Amino acid sequence: MANFDVIAQELQALKDAGRYRPLTVWEDGSDAWMTLEGGKRVLQMSSNNYLGLTHHPKMKQAAIEATEKYGVGAGSVRTITGTLAIHDELEQKLAAFKGTEAALVFQSGFTTNQGVLGSILGADDVVISDELNHASIIDGIRLTKASRKIFAHKDMDQLEAVLKECGSYRQRVVVTDGVFSMDGDIAPLTTIVELAEKYDALVYVDDAHASGVLGKHGKGSTDHFGLHGRVHFQIGTLSKAIGAVGGYVATSQAAKDLMINNARSFLFSTSLPPSVAASCIAAIDVLKTEPELTERLWSNANSFRDTLKKEGFNTGDSETPIIPIIVGEPARTLEFSKRLLDEGLCAQGIVYPTVSMDKGRVRMIVTAQHTDEDLAFALDALKKVGREFGII
Ligand code: PMP
Repeated sequence: MANFDVIAQELQALKDAGRYRPLTVWEDGSDAWMTLEGGKRVLQMSSNNYLGLTHHPKMKQAAIEATEKYGVGAGSVRTITGTLAIHDELEQKLAAFKGTEAALVFQSGFTTNQGVLGSILGADDVVISDELNHASIIDGIRLTKASRKIFAHKDMDQLEAVLKECGSYRQRVVVTDGVFSMDGDIAPLTTIVELAEKYDALVYVDDAHASGVLGKHGKGSTDHFGLHGRVHFQIGTLSKAIGAVGGYVATSQAAKDLMINNARSFLFSTSLPPSVAASCIAAIDVLKTEPELTERLWSNANSFRDTLKKEGFNTGDSETPIIPIIVGEPARTLEFSKRLLDEGLCAQGIVYPTVSMDKGRVRMIVTAQHTDEDLAFALDALKKVGREFGII
């Protein structure tokens, strides 16, 4: 009988390389302070709950009411019996919010990238992608038969050189994260759009970390740069600032209609639970009616980043609430993160292969929920452990 020998060897190799990451179990829901299994309370600076919406009373209430009305599950994929009125309402709301003709909702941001890229790219097309784009974009591209070109991170000269050579393809699609998830820097979207227009390419932006964060009312990077009508595919998640789970693309009606028929992750996976759709509808209203949440997020992020820099930490190119502190090689980075947790601060270690071997970091995510006292507590822990490790 076959056994798990090979799997055990692979696991040991990960451990030997100092790259093994066990799961941490939390006793309560996502919040500024959270309880580790066993009861220890720690300050949370690793969640994507940018605005603290996971606990918003209006979203909870909407979820409860939708559960009462529709039940706990959608019962089917969207194309059979799983398109409930609440899914339709969410898509209309998202399209209006993003200023596009249409929107299509998927089960996660990850499956959105897989489904959208898979349905719009064929063998005669070329996709041109920033080297630091998210794993779900990389995997989504791999699933297509399109030709692939990678440009160095935010290198617009290289992007132009690639576009110049790609005139003979049926279709050119330039793909970028709006906010890069590991470095917290912002894509130069205006230049990307101008180059795409010059060379007749479509523009695809993954706003997972920009939705609810950048732009008026958190409308994302297209709004932030004033590029309405010039970005063809705006991807968003419902799992980060929106506080629930799911993903979507805001695009043209024609593109939506094609994806309903072609996007495999849409076609072959059951639709979002009604409670989730309802809470996301409520969240879009909250973004509009409570702008102070986004304002607080940005003032927290900017003041915390400034302070870290003054203290001598290397925060890379961060310009958003994602603030990495670069530590170095994987084992040392994970040890740094563990020491912070001992001090009561959860700052996730991110190591190779997610980032390059020498660029291991703890990735701090500031949220609107953090108080001045919370940020002072985080700074004290970082200074203490930072000195121990000689990084400041
Ligand atoms: N795109 C980017 C840029 C992301 O950072 C993430 C989340 N890590 C995703 C997509 C996937 O989103 P989700 O967690 O909703 O699947």
